[in-house]
Amino acid sequence: MVLEAPGQALEERELPRPELRPGQVRLRVHTCGVCRTDLHIRDGELSEPKLPLVLGHQIVGTPIEGGATFAGRRVGVPWLGWTCGTCRYCRSGQENLCDRARFTGYHLDGGYADEAVADERYCFEIPAGYSDEQAAPLLCAGLIGYRSLVLAGDPERIGLYGFGASAHIVAQVARSQGRRVFAFTRSGDDAARSLARELGAEWAGDSSARPPEELDAAIIFAPVGELVPAALRATRKGGSVVCAGIHMSDIPSFPYELLWGERVLRSVANLTRRDGKELLALAPQIPVRTTVETFPLTEAERALDSLRLGGIRGAAVLVV
Ligand SMILES: [Zn+2]
Ligand SMILES: [Zn+2]
Repeated sequence: MVLEAPGQALEERELPRPELRPGQVRLRVHTCGVCRTDLHIRDGELSEPKLPLVLGHQIVGTPIEGGATFAGRRVGVPWLGWTCGTCRYCRSGQENLCDRARFTGYHLDGGYADEAVADERYCFEIPAGYSDEQAAPLLCAGLIGYRSLVLAGDPERIGLYGFGASAHIVAQVARSQGRRVFAFTRSGDDAARSLARELGAEWAGDSSARPPEELDAAIIFAPVGELVPAALRATRKGGSVVCAGIHMSDIPSFPYELLWGERVLRSVANLTRRDGKELLALAPQIPVRTTVETFPLTEAERALDSLRLGGIRGAAVLVV
């Protein structure tokens, strides 16, 4: 399914099979998760994608050429597709910030396809015990969520703004660590609130509401700038507010008082391979169970529409 230009519907197309370069693996794609970032690229909110482009950066597949290190086991391809290895970020354990990083389904063709090619150094082994459908959302929703949770500090009370693919995984990790989870959703989103409660949130309510207790930290997954002052207002002195999305509408101005008291406001960008290894080792132990809604590959547009309208409970996954 090919994006010819931002703002246009994806089209079913036959593309030439790329030549495999050393270190690359060719995969038969089984499933590919649908991420909000795909929607931002499709809608033209992220600049300069490769065009034409195959979206998708939560790919589960099996090697059909190359990829000897995986020896026939299932392979997961995440957003971080390549880094330079030499810049100051790459040399200091922050490859997620690499100046020359290339991202799957953005600069490199991704997994909304029958086949995909990836640099095997950036791929992960999919843990046994997860179906192809269940594993896909771990590869971005899970990884970004996990990195956000780590960077939120060590909160007892964690607020999750926007209870979609990422939050529904983070809630399970947070609960397994003994944290108390508070879920914030758009008004009237009863499906998201019921999922949050099923996954152990002790409170689920409107994004603009004050929770019953102050939060120690908050993670904002929804791409809505107004949530930043709302989350700061709900967070205690010394607490952190982490913005986990790659794109957000402008943050409205707010009184300095909301940040005062050593509150920390930060973003989380991309992932490192270490984040991936940690989460994929942790997930089966908890065990994290993903809630997915599946779509056939050719209905990628319908999956994106559904995500845009907030109609997905958990995560959307394309099945090839
Ligand atoms: Zn993503
Ligand atoms: Zn670099």
